[in-house]
Order: sequence, then C-alpha cells, then structure tokens
Amino acid sequence: MTSQGTLAVRPFEYIRAADVRQAVATAAADPAAAFLAGGTTQVDLMKDGVLGPQVLIDITNLPLRGVIAGRGLVSVGALTTMEELAAHPVVAERLPVVRQSLLLAASPQLRNMATVAGNLLQRTRCRYYRDVSCACNKRVPGSGCGALNGHHRMHAILGTSEHCIATHASDLAVALVALDAMVRIRGADRERAVPLTEFYRTPGDTPSVENVLERGELITSVEVPLLPEGTRSGYLKVRDRASYEFALASAAAALVITDGVMRDARVALGGLATVPWRARAAEDILRGAPATPETFAAAAEAALDGASPRAGNAYKVELGKRTVVRALSMVAGLPG
Ligand code: FAD
Ligand code: SF4
Repeated sequence: MTSQGTLAVRPFEYIRAADVRQAVATAAADPAAAFLAGGTTQVDLMKDGVLGPQVLIDITNLPLRGVIAGRGLVSVGALTTMEELAAHPVVAERLPVVRQSLLLAASPQLRNMATVAGNLLQRTRCRYYRDVSCACNKRVPGSGCGALNGHHRMHAILGTSEHCIATHASDLAVALVALDAMVRIRGADRERAVPLTEFYRTPGDTPSVENVLERGELITSVEVPLLPEGTRSGYLKVRDRASYEFALASAAAALVITDGVMRDARVALGGLATVPWRARAAEDILRGAPATPETFAAAAEAALDGASPRAGNAYKVELGKRTVVRALSMVAGLPG
C-alpha cells in the first residue's frame, strides 16, 4: 500500500533471461525495462509505486554467481549473495573490511536474498524518494526536493547539491571504494570495466542519474584487489540501533603499520555522502605519519572538510569525525 492507501504495482511483463546476451539485448531495446536480482530493493520500490518498469528481466538464472579467488584479487559474480561473499574464506582472511561491511548490513534473511550487484545499485532510503506523494528530483526530475527543508536528519553533508542531499545507502560500496574495486559491465555492444570510485555520480543538477551505467548495461562481476599481507582493515558503522539499520555515519579503513608508522592508508565514508565517499585528503595525512590519536584527529578533520550540513543534520559533522577517529583506532588497535 502507498501512503495514499492504494495498491500501486503497475502492470509489467516478466521475462526470465536465459543468458547474459539476451538479458542485455532485451534491456537495451526497451527504456522501460529493469533487471530483477534478489528483488529486495526492486520489488519494494515497485510495490510503493516508485519504480514502474514495463518489462522486468529476471537475471537470477544467469551464470554470474560465485567468488573466484585469484592471485591478488577476488572476482565476485554479480549474483553472489551478500551472505556468500561474507562467508568466503579468502574474504574473511584478507578482506575483513568487506566482510564486516556485509555482516553489519540488513539482516541474515535479506543477505541470503540480496546480491552484490543489487547492493551496489540499491536506491537511497530518503523517505521523500520513497513516498510518491512527495516532491523528489531523483524520482521525478524537476519536481523539487522535500528533504531540503523537511526531515533530513539521515541525509548527506558531503557531495550534496541544491537539488538532492540523499545518502547512498550501501555499506559494501564503502568498503569496495576504499579498496579500489572494479565493476565489470556488459552492454549490448561492448564490455567495460569501471573503477568503483568513478562509478557513482554525485547529484549535481541531475539527481536521477546515479551512476555511469547506460541503458541495458548489466554488471557481471566486481573485482576486489586483495589487501597486501599484514594490512589491517575494518568497517565501523554508527546507527540509531545496533542491528538492522542504515548508517548515520560509517567508515571503512585499511592501514599498513610498521614500527608505529602508517606506510599505507585507505579511508572511505558511508552515511555522510551522496555517494560512497573516498577520503583521499585523510589518506594523505595518514600515509607516512605515526599511528597516533593526533594523526587520526587531523585525518578526520580533512575527511569532513567541505561538508555542507543543514539544520537537521549538522550533528553529522562531529559524528563523522568521531567515526573516522574510532575506525582508525579500531584498525590500528588503539583505544578509540
Ligand atoms: P534487486 O532489488 O533485485 O535490484 C536492485 C537494483 O539493482 C534494481 O534497480 C535492479 O534493476 C538492479 N540490478 C540488480 N542486479 C543488477 C545487475 N547485475 N546489473 C545491473 N543492474 C542490476 N543495504 C546495506 O548496504 N546496508 C543495510 O544496512 C541494509 N539494510 C536493509 C534493510 C532492509 C529492510 C532492506 C529491505 C534492505 C536493506 N539493505 C541494506 C539493502 C539491501 O542490501 C539491498 O536491497 C540489496 O542488496 C539489493 O540486492 P538485490 O539482489 O535484492 O537487488
Ligand atoms: Fe529526492 Fe534527493 Fe531530495 Fe530525497 S534528497 S527528496 S532523494 S531529491
């Protein structure tokens, strides 16, 4: 039921794709087509009347499921479930930040349905986006933004525009952005690989364009470089309740520390920005510096530099800084 109290699923044609070529060709031929993976985002939004594809292409039979650990990277099939990825032994041993980001997301039931590509392409949890009676530039371009002067406690303070301040909701994407993961994409005419750091689009004046995918393009896999032996990594998620909740602020961190000095550092933020946010200015401060609370505080300042909060989410500036300091302390093994 929608907020107006009427059932809103619009009629659609259901197709179960037999192979990748058919899935992509069908989607490329029809601007009103959408892919269906685990359905935990897609079906919810169709029920709420937010999405209304005329053709729904079920891709769950495609051979895109499984994790292959190779030399230096893991290749993750697009249809691998979040739970399967979290349970993979190489991920557990060499990519704790990825495992933690997955296990702190959603619930076990959802993680057993939800796929990795679907997670990266989930939609914002902005309540105005999800309520078709509200103005929302992301859902209906040019209609306005209900959040700007409405309830925006959960909303972004980095990467925002005057047209949209919605956060990106994926936890996994934050970890993968920190690790320089690569998304493999198949279109009707070409295959390509895009670094996840270049995959998402900040809203600017076109909030409805969220990423670089073109019509009909399918994510086939995600390649995640393994962290060098000895790297410490982790994911810290701060939220209103301890489980089954989206982040108010989160940080993925990976550090190589020898003799108390950080030889390498990676930091990305979630819950604070319109896209999974790589904090390169913070990394520059950390690299070559001693792993101390003072360095972490300076990195946190740099990470939140340029934040543009509104009245209802101004608390996120301080929360974000503290989240960065705590995540770095946790990974470095210092008291947070
Ligand atoms: P679907 O719903 O099937 O698809 C999602 C979108 O991706 C659709 O637009 C679909 O067309 C597109 N798509 C899917 N696969 C492909 C592909 N291979 N190529 C191109 N397009 C594709 N997530 C978090 O990160 N953290 C949380 O704490 C969290 N909590 C949640 C709590 C609840 C109650 C719910 C319902 C969801 C939560 N989620 C959370 C989001 C959840 O992880 C996503 O809904 C899920 O990962 C989406 O995957 P899916 O396979 O179900 O995708
Ligand atoms: Fe829509 Fe973005 Fe405004 Fe939310 S913040 S109402 S998603 S335009």
